[in-house]
Amino acid sequence: MKNQILETLTKYWGYTSFRLFQEEAILSILEDRDTLTVLPTGGGKSVCFQLPALISDGTAVIISPLISLMKDQVDYLKDLGIDAECLNSSLSSSDQFTVIEKIRAGGLKLLYLSPERLMFEQTTELLKSVKLSFFVIDEAHCISHWGHNFREEYRQLGFIKKEFKNIGVHAFTATATLEVQQDIVKQLNLDAPHLYIGNIDRPNLNYRILPRSSHLLGQIVEVIKKHPNDPGIIYCLRRADVDELSKKLNDIGYQNLPYHAGLSDEERKKNQDEFSSERINIIVATIAFGMGVDCSNIRYVIHSAMPKSIEHYQQETGRAGRDGLSADCTLFYSGGDYRTWETMLRDSSDKEMLLSKLKAMYNFCVRPECRHRTLVNYFSHTYENNNCGACDVCLGEVEMVQEPLVIGQKIISCVARVQQRFGADHISDILKGNRTASIERWGHEKLSTFSLMNSETKVFIRFMIEQLLGQGFLRREGEYLTIAITGLGQNLLKGEAVPVLAKPIVAVKKKEIEIKRRSKRTQEWEGLDEKLFNALRAKRAELAQSKSVPAYIIFSDKTLKDMTLTSPKTIEQFANVFGVGATKQKQYGQIFIDVIKKYEGTNGQG
Ligand code: ADP
Ligand code: MG
Ligand code: ZN
Repeated sequence: MKNQILETLTKYWGYTSFRLFQEEAILSILEDRDTLTVLPTGGGKSVCFQLPALISDGTAVIISPLISLMKDQVDYLKDLGIDAECLNSSLSSSDQFTVIEKIRAGGLKLLYLSPERLMFEQTTELLKSVKLSFFVIDEAHCISHWGHNFREEYRQLGFIKKEFKNIGVHAFTATATLEVQQDIVKQLNLDAPHLYIGNIDRPNLNYRILPRSSHLLGQIVEVIKKHPNDPGIIYCLRRADVDELSKKLNDIGYQNLPYHAGLSDEERKKNQDEFSSERINIIVATIAFGMGVDCSNIRYVIHSAMPKSIEHYQQETGRAGRDGLSADCTLFYSGGDYRTWETMLRDSSDKEMLLSKLKAMYNFCVRPECRHRTLVNYFSHTYENNNCGACDVCLGEVEMVQEPLVIGQKIISCVARVQQRFGADHISDILKGNRTASIERWGHEKLSTFSLMNSETKVFIRFMIEQLLGQGFLRREGEYLTIAITGLGQNLLKGEAVPVLAKPIVAVKKKEIEIKRRSKRTQEWEGLDEKLFNALRAKRAELAQSKSVPAYIIFSDKTLKDMTLTSPKTIEQFANVFGVGATKQKQYGQIFIDVIKKYEGTNGQG
């Protein structure tokens, strides 16, 4: 059996080895044992059920939350030479009829369905009348209140085990805390399932979390400039922010398209297609964008504000670098984001839980600890590396304050001096020694803490206050957002608790960081002819457009890179390229070989 599945992987997908837990999950499915598999985004979950579906008798039914996602998966499978279809309301009734006929005839290997569609009595009856191999619940976290993207229809999927006795049910997800895992098993009535819980870390993602300056556009442009021709996503909190940022970027020459729920379905779809077929590289979006996007070569994700939970952050950044190649995730946050979310969550019935998730997210931003470690720990895993080499903290881009206790004490005693009745701005002015009108009105220039931190900038002091807030030494109160001291803050005053404080990044330091980052990119491109790569990429975009499918469905960036490196000249050589299976070889081999030959001809090689 093991040989057969490896052969299938190579023949259809063009991969030569399995990734963590893929083989286990596949074997378990083939044994008809229920499974829950948790692998990070890009971990290769699809293969875990597509491959056994291909070699089993009967049709596998894949429940997936989004119609756009289904269509892409089906296109992808067809392009690999695998018989797959989806059944949903986006098909014309005659197309639906054709698919239903195909199901009846029993020839389909995979059938993608939405949970709503599965619940239709006709669908259930139809499925009962044919041979099914197994059921898959993709994006299974949608079943749980504890996760994110909770979907009411997912709640009813427990009925599968009752209606379809003796057929295996296999759940897949990327983000699952222990609570979510238990919830999935319980809700789906899984029968003594095998659990394959992979490491949720994404080592190829470089996390950077920075305070948002008053010049956000400049901060964003700096990131884009490092990725001149790469696809990237920029997330904003509100629709209005999307429109504004999208326009500003277009005005200064960074071509992009907006995406949010306020646009018409048609326009949204058009913008998404332009992006995934690589006619346009940048999309500015609310989180409405992404669930249905499986593009494997997104090289950067920018958050222009803080998401409301670590689950959301993990999922949104998870869209970068699914091909395993390095990608940048940069988040610009401010204390204001916390308050914005707090206000929005105020009337929710799950307020307590949502607030604790929000706090964890904010804490993640302001606490200068390895980002990879923090994320992994949050999802109840342990992290082994001492230095991840891929976050702002471990790369030394964040410099720590030498005497955090003294700084904390200075700030908190100032808060005490003003009876916990003033906001962060006023307190920073006192500590800085600024004689503002407000300070003179209250006589605060006479306080012993006035000018106590005059050797620091006001930006520095504000940044320290934000971190003390994030770490729970201070809290904001009331309508005027005055700063108050918590119990933990009292301990700090007594020297019994010490905060972890990072310095804001200064200009000189930025240069050094710049150099380091650049060399990282150079390393990845070492020995690679970037011009040839771009020529292959252009051909891929052309093919994607003519077939109306996303570019990654043709080939991943990793495949194009391997093609650039090995520059195959014959169809046999082409088969050895990473990610090229038999069908792809036949379909695209000659086309790409021609590009390589033409390129080498005009460049005087070969
Ligand atoms: P997930 O659903 O877990 O987020 P996907 O199934 O979309 O991830 O897979 C991510 C990428 O990894 C895809 O391009 C896929 O073809 C590729 N991949 C999957 N399995 C392997 C493997 N064994 N070797 C190399 N690449 C793989
Ligand atoms: Mg997936
Ligand atoms: Zn780190």
